[in-house]
Amino acid sequence: MVRDRINRACTAAGRDPASVRLLAVSKTRSAAEIRKLGEQGQRDFGESYVDEAMDKFEALADLSLIWHYIGPIQSNKTRIIAEHFDWVQSLDRPKIVRRLDDQRPGDLPPLEVLIQVNIDNEPQKAGCRPDEIAELASMIASCKRLKLRGLMAIPAPSESFAEHKRAFDRLHEQFEALRQDHPAVDTLSAGMSADLEAAIAAGSTMVRVGTALFGPRD
Ligand SMILES: *Cc1c(COP(=O)(O)O)cnc(C)c1O
Repeated sequence: MVRDRINRACTAAGRDPASVRLLAVSKTRSAAEIRKLGEQGQRDFGESYVDEAMDKFEALADLSLIWHYIGPIQSNKTRIIAEHFDWVQSLDRPKIVRRLDDQRPGDLPPLEVLIQVNIDNEPQKAGCRPDEIAELASMIASCKRLKLRGLMAIPAPSESFAEHKRAFDRLHEQFEALRQDHPAVDTLSAGMSADLEAAIAAGSTMVRVGTALFGPRD
């Protein structure tokens, strides 16, 4: 079980298992599969495609789940995201910050946001450069309808625990630097099915797990 992996990784790192939140990545999974986990007590779910997520919100409205948007953000989708998600983990540019802040409805709590960092500077990958974090963070901090919670990253694929851990350590340094300026920041979203142990060893507070929970995606 994934929760057992998390607990073992926390023990190995001398950390409290309650300090790592499990986000179930439910992209491509049916509403019925999500409902099953929801009924077992899983609260946080992550989606990467807006249209696909919309169908699930309706089917699962009775469960009061917490929905995280973790996919690339096209500017023509920001309104739907602002109106329906609780968290956005993939915020990576000023234009999207402004749009989400303008479009978050006044009767909902502020949108919880993470800045996505392209920690290995991969040309094809979403996320801001590490040297852009501070400016984006101060912009978010000035937004009334957004609440800055931390950082998210997907490091480049690598082979070993040690290699994974080095990438997550670099991310954790960025996280600590961000916390110097924004003490309320509390979330480092790092680690997936293949590398969650290395992420937890490096201080992750939220792992995003799809395959290890639901089985392989088509
Ligand atoms: C799909 C996805 C995951 C989950 O990946 P698995 O390897 O299936 O655990 C995590 N984070 C993001 C941003 C994703 O798109």
